[in-house]
Amino acid sequence: MSPTDSYTRFVNRPFGKQVAKTIGLPRPVPLRRHTQGDRLASGSILVIGESDAGNTVAEQLWAESYDVRRDPGLKQKFSAIIVAFDDAAHPSDLSERVLQVSAALRGLEPNGRVITIFRDPQDSSISSDANRIAVRHSVEGFTRSLAKEMRFGATTNGIILGQDVTMAAPAALAALRFFLSGRSAYVAGQFLTVSSSAGAVPADWDTPLADMVIVVTGAARGIGEAISETLARDGATVIGVDMPPAGEALTTVMNRVGGIAVQMDITDENAGNELLRMAEQRFGRLDGIVHNAGITRDKLLANMDAARWDSLIAVNITAPLRINEQLLAALGQGVVAENFRITALASTSGIAGNRGQTNYAAAKAGIMGMTQALAGQLAKTGGSINAVAPGFIETAMTDAMPAATREVARRMNSLQQGGRPVDVAEAIALFHTDAAAGINGTTLRVCGQSMVGK
Ligand code: NAD
Repeated sequence: MSPTDSYTRFVNRPFGKQVAKTIGLPRPVPLRRHTQGDRLASGSILVIGESDAGNTVAEQLWAESYDVRRDPGLKQKFSAIIVAFDDAAHPSDLSERVLQVSAALRGLEPNGRVITIFRDPQDSSISSDANRIAVRHSVEGFTRSLAKEMRFGATTNGIILGQDVTMAAPAALAALRFFLSGRSAYVAGQFLTVSSSAGAVPADWDTPLADMVIVVTGAARGIGEAISETLARDGATVIGVDMPPAGEALTTVMNRVGGIAVQMDITDENAGNELLRMAEQRFGRLDGIVHNAGITRDKLLANMDAARWDSLIAVNITAPLRINEQLLAALGQGVVAENFRITALASTSGIAGNRGQTNYAAAKAGIMGMTQALAGQLAKTGGSINAVAPGFIETAMTDAMPAATREVARRMNSLQQGGRPVDVAEAIALFHTDAAAGINGTTLRVCGQSMVGK
């Protein structure tokens, strides 16, 4: 497995670039990824829209010494274009700002960002206002389509402000920073909905998880390993869990990130209570859990047997449900923090369905249901739960696919390449910050805007 696939390396060399251009083949580019201390943007940021949200964004970025422009100008280069539509009342209000985006697009740098900001179409205070509901849906459609027109690693994503939520809300600012930075490298055509003003901005945006203790299941390799590294990079102490046969790999990862290794099968009836006991003994606290451990047992349903179905459901959905129950029974009683944060790995298969994966898709759709169901309970004390749905991620699992199938899956998205485990980890890390508390009960796709599903 290579960090950049061989086709991407080929088309980024002069000869390969020429061949791809001549015969119209995909031309993926290496994506900009985050390293500690990186600025959100290296060049100018254009902020379009003299609305509440537009003005708040411009002021925030000015305060951090970014080169903020409010006008596309002539032949200007931009690292990012942010367009606020929060005051739009009718689809005919979009034209002026959309055309400003159009004028600026040619100046968008490789790996640049376009971010739309608009209000929630589900907002109950406008439930019978067809004009306002229409325009909010219009911005959604605009954002998804523009995301498909991006080139050279650039992305378009949207921030949705819920009822009474302003752009100054901690989670709105956290979403803005996520989409601007290299942390969202493989997120395209997606939305973060900020449903409340809960949460607090961190003292240092580089270590937003400082002092937190977070459990990561399936931490010995793949996406779980990357999640452990990313949470530790952002300041957290990780309790890494994996099966006894993966014990050695788990210890290696935990030594690297300064965490503790726990050999455990998450399907054990008492797994949640045992984790609680261990967190109490070692740290006296537990701030969150990442339900990452998962298995595949692919078979067409006509050939499915009980072992394949039952083992997959047990690991991928029954265990997270039971562990949550055990941990949440202790919510606010000392060890489990009041602002406890849960994240879980879903999958685009759980959204769109996938041939040969009835068991996997059932479990992953269940994860998204669990996320919606527990959001209200967690929000009462300042907690949250969110899911991340990866598309094609370069791991040992996808490396084992037949070459032709793999190559097709890799290119079937707006960025024309597979994502990396760290791309999933960055989204998980965002949801564990206190700043993101106002994002709750959602599923974020990290899939390069895969053609699969919505
Ligand atoms: P992986 O197989 O590389 O790693 C999964 C880890 O979970 C392994 O270390 C395994 O030992 C552990 N595990 C499995 N069963 C366990 C159990 N009962 N108790 C404790 N640990 C257990 O998988 P990955 O590709 O890194 O995927 C991680 C998560 O992301 C999974 O939930 C997967 O469904 C999801 N996902 C992955 C992709 C992808 O493209 N790789 C796409 C969508 C979703």
